[in-house]
Amino acid sequence: MMQFDRKKLKVLSLIGLPIVLVTAVLSWNNFRMLYGITESVNRQEELRTKQAIDAAFSSLLDQMAITITDNANWTAAYEEAGTTVNEDWVRDTWITTDEKAHYDTTYILDAKGDDLLGYAQGKPARLSAKKFYGASFAAMFAKLPKDNTKFETVSSLVGTEQGLAIVSMAPITTEEASATSEKPRNTLVFSKLVNTATLAKIGKTHVIEQLKLGSTLQEGAPRYILKDIGGKTAAIASWKMVDPGGDMRGEYLVHALIMVFSLLCFLFPIALVHYRTLAAMDSRERTAVKAARVDFLSGLANRVQLLEKLEELLDRNSPDHIALAFIDLDGFKAVNDTYDHETGDKLIRAFGAGLAELTADCVLAARLGGDEFAFLVKGPDCQAKAESVAAQVITFSREPFDLDGRMASIGASIGLSHRDPDVTEASELMRRADIAMYDAKGSGRNQWRWFDASLEAKRSSDLLVANEMRRYLDSGTFGVAYQPIIDTTNRAVVGVEALARWPGPSPLTPERFIPVAEEHGMIDLLCEVILRTAIAELATRPDLNLAINVSALQLNNKNMVSNIVAVLEELDFAASRLELEFTETHLIRNKRRTKEIISQLQGAGIKVALDDFGTGYASVGYLRDFAFDTIKLDRSLAHSLGEGRDVRKIVQGTVLIAKGLSANVVAEGIETEEQSGIMKMLGANKLQGYYFAKPMSAKQLLLKSTMPDAKSGVQIAG
Ligand code: C2E
Ligand code: CA
Ligand code: CA
Repeated sequence: MMQFDRKKLKVLSLIGLPIVLVTAVLSWNNFRMLYGITESVNRQEELRTKQAIDAAFSSLLDQMAITITDNANWTAAYEEAGTTVNEDWVRDTWITTDEKAHYDTTYILDAKGDDLLGYAQGKPARLSAKKFYGASFAAMFAKLPKDNTKFETVSSLVGTEQGLAIVSMAPITTEEASATSEKPRNTLVFSKLVNTATLAKIGKTHVIEQLKLGSTLQEGAPRYILKDIGGKTAAIASWKMVDPGGDMRGEYLVHALIMVFSLLCFLFPIALVHYRTLAAMDSRERTAVKAARVDFLSGLANRVQLLEKLEELLDRNSPDHIALAFIDLDGFKAVNDTYDHETGDKLIRAFGAGLAELTADCVLAARLGGDEFAFLVKGPDCQAKAESVAAQVITFSREPFDLDGRMASIGASIGLSHRDPDVTEASELMRRADIAMYDAKGSGRNQWRWFDASLEAKRSSDLLVANEMRRYLDSGTFGVAYQPIIDTTNRAVVGVEALARWPGPSPLTPERFIPVAEEHGMIDLLCEVILRTAIAELATRPDLNLAINVSALQLNNKNMVSNIVAVLEELDFAASRLELEFTETHLIRNKRRTKEIISQLQGAGIKVALDDFGTGYASVGYLRDFAFDTIKLDRSLAHSLGEGRDVRKIVQGTVLIAKGLSANVVAEGIETEEQSGIMKMLGANKLQGYYFAKPMSAKQLLLKSTMPDAKSGVQIAG
């Protein structure tokens, strides 16, 4: 079934409308022309009929004039009726009942126009001539020549009470008579009523159907007014209008319809082809439009669709409650790097499918690109719903993903923002969700956060820090402090831990700028700059080992090991002098990857330390899983040594296991001689803390030959 949606209608109207218009205009034009022609033909016909009627009656009048001339201008007539009236003679000569005669009424009038004699249809006339011919009589009579010498006839159509009459009058005289007699002459009047036979004859001769005479106008019918000599209406002729235009129109109509039909037959296939082409284009366009709104990998909505939906929901007039969640996967890059992009794609698809299921009640779920996803919730309870879905998404994300036999463990950080009176723009809602997500990530991942204004302040200050840091790192300069590490047995400085220091005037702690470096993708570069600086600054102390801190995120960089090895080779620094410190969180986040990196590092001769042991939840079991060269007991352990036997047991146990695994134990945060002594007693191989030395500049490190506390007898110089 064809679906007539808006687009198709548009397409159809693009072709259909012009065809209908062209056809309509052509037809309209044809019919207008046709009607114009037929109208004009009919007008001509009416005119012809009128002229024919006129001619017919003129000819009757002419005939009557000839008849009256023949009879009045005649010596015998003058003698018998010119000045007197010989009734017998007149009756014999001028009175007739013959219907075919040219006249049926005869009057002889005296000089004043009064009757001397009158006959109608062979009988004495009922009315006088004046009465019978009415108003027309006076007009006719007045036109007769007054002078005896002249002979003239006067003829006119006259409307009588019996109908239209053809009337002629003339003086009864001869030329001789007029020359000899002064006597006033009589007038002869002949008239003939126009009967149906006469009308039929006129109609037949001139092709006028149903010609009739009347005294009143008939509405609508064609008519011709017959006037008397004085211009007054004598009769009104009417007839049946023949419609020659109508016949023509009928004939033409058939032709016109054939023409329009042929035109349609010609245009229809063209229209069909066009329609098909446009419909195909339309369907391709729709596919493209759909594709432009769907993420091809996950099948979820994409950023464009999310934005559109948001804008639609944020429409100022709509009071909808809206909550938006931004999801960023933790550890996705590591999966991508460890396996391959294909596996990474599988993970995106698997997570996308799970997200789609968990957000079935939401407005939509989207993939924004990379490992970033989003979902949109609507309704008065949208905040509670968003929190619950976010928590479920995090739980789901932390379950191991089986990607065709390859296991991947990731996590998710989620930022939430909701509509409030300040948020009317989709971009603002997205920006806020992004800030909240960023904070969730920075605060330890696998959690969700609502946006609030303080996050924004932090975000913008983070941006300032990041920008400044990039400038330092790009120029290869960053501050490094060195904290000595002491051998327990002889209190000799055997190495230093390099600690990043903010090179600018503002006192930013590593806790402040390290997460910024992580979030803004500068952690690898920071590590490299610290390493290069430390190697350069320790050039005169080949006896000291160097410990460098490594961030969890650096495990995502698949070139991490090769980069470090390259720097060591470039600067000719023995790999065996370098130790990288990992914290417990690294292990938990991606065990497999950490194991791999550790073995790669050790394969390159670089040592690996477990930092801050005893703070987190990493069990001693981890010590067995990873072959660390060194275990650094967190300073909190040193500080709580005085608090009870349990702490000592932990330290003792750790030292035992470490020893069993041939690892060294470094006790950090030693601030007193007592702590130093206990740690030594419990088996720590090395000590580090303010008691021996605070982190110091390279200059101080190289200048100082002994520790601040002379009593300890620690030798800093080699
Ligand atoms: P960390 O690796 O545990 O470094 C030791 C921290 O403990 C240093 O703080 C040091 O100044 C402090 N410390 C040393 N002895 C004592 C003591 O006796 N008492 C007390 N209270 N503190 C002591 P710092 O330099 O502020 O570094 C803090 C953390 O920042 C480091 O903890 C490390 O996790 C991180 N960090 C520092 N530099 C870098 C770096 O270059 N890269 C990375 N990824 N992280 C770094
Ligand atoms: Ca450390
Ligand atoms: Ca530490």
